[in-house]
This record gives sequence, C-alpha cells and structure tokens, in this order.
Amino acid sequence: MFVQIENLAYRYQNANQPAIQDFSLYMNKGEIIAILGESGSGKSTVLRLLAGLEIPQAGSISINGRQIAGDHTFIPPEKRGIGMVFQDYALFPHMTVEKNILFGLRHLKRMQKQERLAEMLELVNLSDYKKRYPYELSGGQQQRVALARALAPAPSLMLFDEPFSNLDASLQVKIRDELKGILKQTNSTSIFVTHDQADAAALADRTIFIKQGMVKNAEPAPNKSYSL
Ligand code: ADP
Ligand code: ADP
Repeated sequence: MFVQIENLAYRYQNANQPAIQDFSLYMNKGEIIAILGESGSGKSTVLRLLAGLEIPQAGSISINGRQIAGDHTFIPPEKRGIGMVFQDYALFPHMTVEKNILFGLRHLKRMQKQERLAEMLELVNLSDYKKRYPYELSGGQQQRVALARALAPAPSLMLFDEPFSNLDASLQVKIRDELKGILKQTNSTSIFVTHDQADAAALADRTIFIKQGMVKNAEPAPNKSYSL
C-alpha cells in the first residue's frame, strides 16, 4: 500500500470529544480519495495530521513505506514530501507566478529549476502569465498557480482542503475537471476533503464518509448473501 493510515486518533487540548478516532485509510499510488463529511466532522484534522501540523495521540501514518507519524516517530512537515492546496490559495502576493512556483523548487539546480518551472506552467496552462502577480489573475488562475506550486516538487501525496469553495459555481465545475485531468496525468496520489457530494463524485476514485471523527464506510459495505 502506498499510503497507510492506521487507527489514527486526535483530541484537541480542551476539547471533550476526540476530533478523530480510529481513523484508518489505505491508498494505492495514483489514487484520488475524497473525504466527505459535515462541518466539524474532523476532515481538516485528518489533513492536519497528514501534513504534520498536529501530532496524533494514537495510530500511525506511512507513505511509500516510510513512517512519518506514530510509534514515537514524527517527521516534520517540510520533510514529508506532501503538497497542499487550500481554499484561499495562499499565494505569496508580492511574488510573480513564476516566483511562486519556484519557491517550492529552491533546492534544485538552476537548470532543473527552469525546466520544472516550464513544465508546471504548461501543465496548468499559464505559460503566458508567468510574470503576473496574483492580484492580476482571476480566481481560477490563482488556484491553478497554487496547484502548480504544490505539484512542482513532485510530492508523494497531495492534500486539498475544500479547494473550490472560493470559486463561483460554473468555475468550480471547470476547475474540478481540469484538476482531475492534471492529477491523473501526473499520477498524483491525492486526498481532498469536501462537504460537497458532487465534488467528491466528480473527482474521486473513492469516497470516504466521516462523521464525528469516525469513518462510516471504510470500504463499500459487503453485500450480505446467505446460502441455505
Ligand atoms: P471539519 O474539517 O470536518 O469541519 P475539523 O477537523 O475542523 O472538522 O474539526 C473536528 C472537531 O474538532 C470539531 O468538533 C471541532 O470543533 C474541533 N476542533 C477543530 N479545531 C479545534 C481546535 N483548535 N481546538 C479545539 N477543538 C477543535
Ligand atoms: P477564469 O476562467 O480563469 O476565471 P476569467 O474569465 O475570470 O478567467 O478571466 C479572463 C481573463 O481576464 C484572464 O486572462 C485573466 O488573466 C484576466 N483577469 C481576470 N481578473 C483580472 C485582474 N484582476 N487583473 C488583470 N487581469 C485579470
């Protein structure tokens, strides 16, 4: 299994209920999973645990055979090889499109950097916009820059937190379809959280329902068959 999340539990300080309990998820390389649940069900907490922004109180997380959390192991966020895209894009406002994307590539050699930058700009169809600043772009274009920046270092896992919620309805559908194409083209293993069933159905290979921090359908419910 490429991603192994086992029996994860997390309770915020001062909370009386755990935000996540006994959460397990297994993913193949290249799989796109949606985590669907109401507000407060624990979706963001799962992403925060994966990203290394919180330390789980129980359970473990491994990616590509390497444990990143659990059993006294804790790999810090910047060393996890995880890419993230959030609803508010979080682009650096004082940097052009190309500088935003290059930020994730700062450890590469100059030639490799330029090559990867060109590849990413082409992938998200923004080659003509590399000298623009975020405020000179539409919402959809900004979200594509955020995607390119996250994908540029070739992360082993991509996380999306309600990536379309700041876009208007018609644009949501367009970007959603584009995103699915890009993730499949790059064979990116991805988890995205949403409260929108239509988003989950359109984007994901598989949907996990979560309620009060617990998975409601780890796998499709087996058909009960009785033989006499
Ligand atoms: P979702 O992303 O599905 O809206 P969250 O993961 O944000 O859900 O929240 C799960 C639960 O944890 C909720 O009950 C929420 O109130 C609680 N929670 C989230 N963040 C904190 C925090 N910083 N401190 C205390 N409780 C929190
Ligand atoms: P999208 O479908 O990606 O949302 P739009 O239809 O909103 O694109 O934008 C169309 C064109 O207008 C794009 O080429 C974009 O660069 C330009 N544009 C949008 N907003 C701005 C802005 N605030 N400043 C400069 N150009 C903009």
